[in-house]
Amino acid sequence: MVLQDLGRRINAAVSDLTRSANLDEKAFDEMLKEICAALLSADVNVRLVQNLRKSIKNSVNFASAPAAVNKKRLIQKAVFDELVALVNPHADPFRPKKGRVNVIMFVGLQGAGKTTTCTKLARHYQTRGFKTALVCADTFRAGAFDQLKQNAIKAKIPYYGSLTQTDPVVVAAEGVAQFKKERFDVIIVDTSGRHKQEEDLFEEMTQIQNAVTPDQTILVLDSTIGQAAEAQSSAFKATADFGAIIITKTDGHAAGGGAISAVAATHTPIIFLGTGEHMLDLERFEPKAFVQKLLGMGDMAGLVEHVQAVTKDSAGAKEAYKHITAGLYTVRDFRENITSIMKMGPLSKLSGMIPGLSNITAGLDDEDGTMKLRRMIYIFDSMTAAELDSDGKMFIDQPSRIVRIACGSGTTVREVEDLLSQHRMMSGMAKKVGGQRKQMQRAQNMLKGGNKDQQMAAMQKRMQSMGGAGGAGGMPGMGDMAKMMQMLQGQGGAGGGIPGMGGMDLQSMMSQMGGLMGGGGGGGGGSGGKGRGR
Ligand code: GDP
Ligand code: MG
Repeated sequence: MVLQDLGRRINAAVSDLTRSANLDEKAFDEMLKEICAALLSADVNVRLVQNLRKSIKNSVNFASAPAAVNKKRLIQKAVFDELVALVNPHADPFRPKKGRVNVIMFVGLQGAGKTTTCTKLARHYQTRGFKTALVCADTFRAGAFDQLKQNAIKAKIPYYGSLTQTDPVVVAAEGVAQFKKERFDVIIVDTSGRHKQEEDLFEEMTQIQNAVTPDQTILVLDSTIGQAAEAQSSAFKATADFGAIIITKTDGHAAGGGAISAVAATHTPIIFLGTGEHMLDLERFEPKAFVQKLLGMGDMAGLVEHVQAVTKDSAGAKEAYKHITAGLYTVRDFRENITSIMKMGPLSKLSGMIPGLSNITAGLDDEDGTMKLRRMIYIFDSMTAAELDSDGKMFIDQPSRIVRIACGSGTTVREVEDLLSQHRMMSGMAKKVGGQRKQMQRAQNMLKGGNKDQQMAAMQKRMQSMGGAGGAGGMPGMGDMAKMMQMLQGQGGAGGGIPGMGGMDLQSMMSQMGGLMGGGGGGGGGSGGKGRGR
């Protein structure tokens, strides 16, 4: 989706600035301008963009900020925080509770994706142990009940609807009453839409709402409607006071920023994103994680916690990340990593945490996530040795390989393409880490002679100029990455310290890096802090 371009542009603007030699107010304004242009071209509301610009400007006070390094951190943090604020409604979304009836009603225009999303959500709750049912209260569109029925059968979810009853209010009331009697936990009511906001649609919506008294009303918004999202969501809000938004079709080419602006217009949380036509294409939405993913940062902090909890088998995990740290990352390495990750247990915990892997398993439960990864393995297994040992470029040069692999593995071209683009992302990350390692080694060689304090200062400068994501508070960057690496080396918790005069091992290097970049180390003493990014 175009939002990915947005993430890239914002990232580029921030890192251009933080890498530039003269970080002055003019450069800062340039960065702000570029970020705003990126947001506007993603259809984010003009007023919101202006507010964001002001907030970033206000939180980074150039005049009073002291050292250059602090400015970088300040800027990174401000951009991150303001992007989170943009999608954060400051309202908690409804969560169904077990042991009671939770009625959820869907509203939205025709074609927004209500019926599709109803089933996705029903399935989501069902796999989490909720006894879930669907009610079709769309008697307006011919075939609406059939569509819901087919989806429900596929997902093995009980459903209710009528081919003869023409009053949607009656159908909704009957369906909900029946499932209530049968003690269902979650009852999802699908309603009809119209081509545009019409009086009778709103009238009908209110009547159904009164009849079934939902615990939660969800507005389904099509991300392709762009700037119209704000007016549309406000109109719905005025009639059917929905408490959550699901944005659909985020897999398409729509800019998506318009729909995201609906959060600000209605102070309502987005709870899920629809990412495709398939039943599993539903991704949980959480402001912080969304921005982290948007900026390609994954959720390192979450991953670190998880790895800490599960790394009994540190040998396997160590193997999985060896290649990343070497800076060279082939398709085969990617396969090995996927295999190791499959062994690391609860995928739901890992999804979204690993940059590059987040898109693969996010929003899926363990079973589906494992299935998706398994399909990736099928894809790898249909590759030739030369393809596996390549850096992936040959697929760009000869796209027919992709088609052959898709056929051979029983997957789709899109799945193969997705896998390859994930690999590209991972290998880009590996290059970055590998490059930093080389710089560290150079710095270490320098350390071998001369004034230690002076050398240390020079090394710090180098580290800063590398301009990694930096461990600005709340912004998981190299600090967390370093800590993760350290743990994956199977030595979590060891304080790295300044590497001695001897050979510098990876673990202490990483902890060193984490200390410097996370702000823990520094000085010139013998106790560089261990990696910490937040
Ligand atoms: P409704 O009229 O609001 O019930 O909308 P439907 O559920 O019938 O969906 C309209 C169309 O949008 C269908 O062709 C769906 O397959 C498609 N659709 C729904 N959600 C998504 C999504 O997240 N991604 C994509 N690509 N298509 C979607
Ligand atoms: Mg429908």
